[in-house]
Amino acid sequence: MEDIKKEIEKLTEELLEHNRKYYEEDNPSISDYDYDMLIRKLTKLEEEYPQYKKEYSPTDRVGGKALDAFDKVKHEYKQLSLSNAFSYDELLEFDQRVKKEIENPVYTLENKFDGLTIVLTYKKGLLSVGATRGDGEVGEDVTLNVKTIKSIPLKLNEEVDLTVRGEVLIYKDNFEKINKEREKEGLSLFANPRNMAAGSIRQLDSKIAAKRNLDCFIFNLEHIEGKTLSSHSESLDYLKSLGFKVSEYKIFDNMKDIFDELIKKEDSRKSMPYEIDGAVIKLNDLEERELLGSTNKNPRWAIAYKFSETKVKTKLTDIIVNVGRTGTLTPVAILEGVRIDGSFVSRATLHNEDYINDNDIRIGDNVIVKKAGEIIPQVISSVKEDRKGDEKLFEMPKNCPVCGKEVVRQEGNSAVKCINVDCPAKISREIIHFASREAMNIDTLGERVLETLIEKDLIQDVSNIYKLEDKKKDIESLEKMGEKSVSNMLNAIEKSKENSLEDLLFALSINLVGKQGAKLLAKRFKTMDNLINASYEDIVDINEIGDKMATEIINFFKNPSKLALIERLKSVGVNMEYINEENEELKFEGMTFVLTGTLSKYKRSEAKKIIENYGGKVSSSVSKKTTYVLAGENAGSKEEKAKELGVKIISEDEFENMI
Ligand SMILES: [Zn+2]
Repeated sequence: MEDIKKEIEKLTEELLEHNRKYYEEDNPSISDYDYDMLIRKLTKLEEEYPQYKKEYSPTDRVGGKALDAFDKVKHEYKQLSLSNAFSYDELLEFDQRVKKEIENPVYTLENKFDGLTIVLTYKKGLLSVGATRGDGEVGEDVTLNVKTIKSIPLKLNEEVDLTVRGEVLIYKDNFEKINKEREKEGLSLFANPRNMAAGSIRQLDSKIAAKRNLDCFIFNLEHIEGKTLSSHSESLDYLKSLGFKVSEYKIFDNMKDIFDELIKKEDSRKSMPYEIDGAVIKLNDLEERELLGSTNKNPRWAIAYKFSETKVKTKLTDIIVNVGRTGTLTPVAILEGVRIDGSFVSRATLHNEDYINDNDIRIGDNVIVKKAGEIIPQVISSVKEDRKGDEKLFEMPKNCPVCGKEVVRQEGNSAVKCINVDCPAKISREIIHFASREAMNIDTLGERVLETLIEKDLIQDVSNIYKLEDKKKDIESLEKMGEKSVSNMLNAIEKSKENSLEDLLFALSINLVGKQGAKLLAKRFKTMDNLINASYEDIVDINEIGDKMATEIINFFKNPSKLALIERLKSVGVNMEYINEENEELKFEGMTFVLTGTLSKYKRSEAKKIIENYGGKVSSSVSKKTTYVLAGENAGSKEEKAKELGVKIISEDEFENMI
């Protein structure tokens, strides 16, 4: 038994050390696979001998038992919120107030992250409680979820007692990825990364929180036992040395320079990987902070400068309802057209029924519309004081606006769906998806062309795409469809017949089966027939495919109309086999890549290996001969150089699509 206890301790320490190397030094010493094997081994031992499990065990990173509710936590140190400034004048006023008491104040400037504030308490260097800020006095105990955030250390490099405050956030690309997955599964979408981060941390099932890939920046030391620090910047440096990921800061001695920096920040925020909604200016000297103290609500030694967002007021004239590929009904606001950030906006998403009700948005209201980054415009609020009394409440239709069949809303889900498999709206979205670049990649058959073809009844289902040749004359007579473009289109259609099985599987819109799932199925079963004949057990046997997805796949291939469709595709000559990757083994041959910035999905060495395996080369400097620059976060001069030389810059996502 002593041996087992020692073994658990050894594994725990070893894994913590790997964690540290990975997240602090960005320099892992073992492969992800080996790491997972160690985690598995430790999990097994802990399950057999729970009495020896360490309270800071790295196995908690994957989440634990789901809770019924969160316990309340009374904060030992009152968590005040900051007062806001929106202009240079307001910053000057703040500075003047400080100067009444402090001679020559020195300030730090940090990002104001747009996430959810949490308070972490460590006892003897071990994470003991993670809590939400709540109302500043009482928050919720979200320790299990906090433990799943890999950048939050479970064990510090020193055995200290301390309390820190940080911001939990989600990266923009991750936000979009998760929302896309949710859309496919017919779940309601999060309106913005902040909502998603907050929803994840206030999630009763920590296993779900673990999958969201949250990150956390620590921005303040609230209290520490037995150590004296003289300045905020010193405390951040110290926290960093303990293993925290801390907010970066700059130091200034005058407001003019601060304001110049703020303008720079505001310009660059769109290109940042996460959202910031302003910057925080704090007095650096901790004794001076004490001297200034706090009002009832806010500390006097800090202020949050909020960026202006492009928000525009306009009239919401109507709400229409769109039906998506999975049958989800999405309310869309029809607006009196306005210009936002240079683009003309006449529609904006209202997400779902609950969003409209929660924000009390009515037809005829004046509303505030926001466009942030690449995210589609959204209505964020209604202007209640503008109401005249003739505004109308919106009601979600009880029947699908396209096919007229009754819609359903599942319990605990804000999405309303049309479940009619023959709904024309679903069918036309499915046809558009089938031809899309991600699926069968028939690039000349875009959304608009397809909509026309469907409308003219030239296509009724995806197999008709392959019979368009016979209708050449009809198509050529359509508006904007010359002989040349029709012949290009038919060539692209012909070529798509040769696609490998995974493209076809993804193109068929099987519920829950994304690109990755399709690839796994194609690799495993090799031919469509094998997959059709596969049992539930055969499918769920694939590591990454879970119960829900396997059930959807089985149901799809049990549906006679789907089988008939596959037969039709077969008869027109669409390839039904997995084309081995050997054909693309050297797809990067003759290409030169340059890696720059911080990659989040791959270690540099991994990315390099992948490129070399496909026959490509990796070089350290950008020249005219460079084929691609793979740019991660904070890509600097190399990205600039690539732009100058006209070398194509690709993101990690694009890279992933290439391999
Ligand atoms: Zn319908």
